[in-house]
Amino acid sequence: MTESAPTAHYDPSRLNQAQRARSIEAATGRAHDVLVIGAGVTGAGCALDAVTRGLSVVLVETGDIAVGTSSRSGKIFHGGLRYLEQYNFALVAHAIVERDLQVKTLSPHLTRPEPFLYPLSAHWERPYAGAGILLYDIFGLRGRGVPRHKHLTRGGVVRHAPSMDPDVVTGGIQYYDVRMDDARHTLAVARTAAAFGAQVITGAPVVEILRTGDRVVGVVFTDGVGGQRREIRAKVVINAAGAWASDVQQLAGTHTFDVQPSKGVHLLLRRDAIDSDTGILARASDSVIIARRWWNYWLVGTTDTPLDGDRGSPRPEVADVQYLLRELNHFLRRKVQPDDVLGVYAGVRPLLRPVGTDADATSALSRDHSVVPGPDGFITIVGGKYTTYRLMAQDAVDAAVKSGLLGDVPESLTKNTPLLGAAGWAALRNRAGALAGEHGLSRRQVERLLSRYGSQIHDVLAIGAADRTLITARDDWADYLPAELIYAVTAEGALTLTDVMMRRTHLAIELPDGGHDAAPAIAELVRAPFGWDDAEVTRQVAAYRAAVAADREALEMVQAGL
Ligand SMILES: Cc1cc2nc3c(=O)[nH]c(=O)nc-3n(C[C@H](O)[C@H](O)[C@H](O)COP(=O)(O)OP(=O)(O)OC[C@H]3O[C@@H](n4cnc5c(N)ncnc54)[C@H](O)[C@@H]3O)c2cc1C
Repeated sequence: MTESAPTAHYDPSRLNQAQRARSIEAATGRAHDVLVIGAGVTGAGCALDAVTRGLSVVLVETGDIAVGTSSRSGKIFHGGLRYLEQYNFALVAHAIVERDLQVKTLSPHLTRPEPFLYPLSAHWERPYAGAGILLYDIFGLRGRGVPRHKHLTRGGVVRHAPSMDPDVVTGGIQYYDVRMDDARHTLAVARTAAAFGAQVITGAPVVEILRTGDRVVGVVFTDGVGGQRREIRAKVVINAAGAWASDVQQLAGTHTFDVQPSKGVHLLLRRDAIDSDTGILARASDSVIIARRWWNYWLVGTTDTPLDGDRGSPRPEVADVQYLLRELNHFLRRKVQPDDVLGVYAGVRPLLRPVGTDADATSALSRDHSVVPGPDGFITIVGGKYTTYRLMAQDAVDAAVKSGLLGDVPESLTKNTPLLGAAGWAALRNRAGALAGEHGLSRRQVERLLSRYGSQIHDVLAIGAADRTLITARDDWADYLPAELIYAVTAEGALTLTDVMMRRTHLAIELPDGGHDAAPAIAELVRAPFGWDDAEVTRQVAAYRAAVAADREALEMVQAGL
């Protein structure tokens, strides 16, 4: 392991194996104010909210940061146009404020406003859809994070999106939402919490909730590496376990809601699969289909079906891949082919269902979030959307404060707390050309690095100081620099090869074989900082390949015409 014990230069935002060991010691050594279960965006957000109010905080996670839904979303901060049709104006209004806050203040380096085209197939649709999109803009007037919408004729649609079929589309309305990289954004939230002093412990499933009488006083987790049972004591435990929130609530001895797991699948397409300078959001047979530009690719989703299998490893099915291609192709004259698809993934929406109720269609269940207090000292935060995670976290910590167990606690500061990498990012972006010259990179490469690391770019580039090959992009690794993979281990808390290739980078969906062939060389590159021996390298490659093969099985069947 390259990290050593804390020194004068100790940087608490650097997450790695040595930090994990230190955090376990610090977490188990004394009682804390707040313990958060689950390092998805909601739990990471709770940790950041609580620690910036001056509370002592521990964040524990079964697997990797963002291993659940928070790395498998549609990757947009959005108000959610379709929720307007459900008359959920409050959700849309709040989400738009949060969207704009991310772009302007919290994570400008990780986000970018993107145009979306709403195609119209009949003339009567224009006033109806136009009113909704106008409202969308009105909700955004305060934040002004994105440009306003505009109406397009059929000719205008085809000029922006030559791929669109003019026989199907009569015109369109273009509006804006914001693209992001969910796994990296959640990582930034967790690292920011760590920078303020939160102890972040991944590979640590909570298996028991400790109680004294009726009151929750802490948790027991098993140390994923050693398998040892460890106790952490806290005045308040916040359950942010997403799709597992009901199971965790039941560990605390209460059962007031279930999570109805709903599966959503996305496809990653080659950039040239669709000829368009704008994303597309269109009506699908049972909901909407969205194709958005996502860095050098198109990301297309999503499905919305009840999930029967394991919530930890939702699998795309043949019918999911076929549905997405069919619904998208309805609007396109040059049809997207199965071979245009590079990767596929599925995620689980944590939709809340109070005990004793039923829902036929998961798309009808509410996307609002709920704070569920109880038992004493235990608060569950569940539901909602990625976009509203900050508000959800604020509400959960407010509820913890209201319990009276934490004493006098200041109000939430997260509205004004930029995430790691945001400070100084705009100035660095203006210096992209100079930075490129200093490091022998292209301007495009520096801009790409800035959109992944913000002002942390210097830490990544420093890895190449002694060996330039480490900052030389590998086109067989989707243009990632080897230094990025090393940084994933030394500063971004990756504990496995799968963490490196699926969440710190997206090699698993960007490479057409899912990274199968690249895995051994990448494992060799990261073995030194991980401290792996030969047997561990072999085990890590096999585990990664198995995970990717399971995700890709349905796609490969469609590509083979089966
Ligand atoms: C297909 C799809 C597309 C979506 N698209 C968007 C979008 O574009 N924009 C948007 O705003 N929202 C979107 N969403 C919703 C959004 O992704 C989720 O609301 C959000 O990611 C949920 O985050 P979370 O932290 O609550 O849950 P999760 O990310 O699932 O985190 C819960 C964590 O708890 C951990 N955990 C569980 N049990 C334990 C335990 N016993 N001990 C320790 N840890 C535990 C899990 O490992 C997991 O990491 C989408 C959702 C889906 C499924």
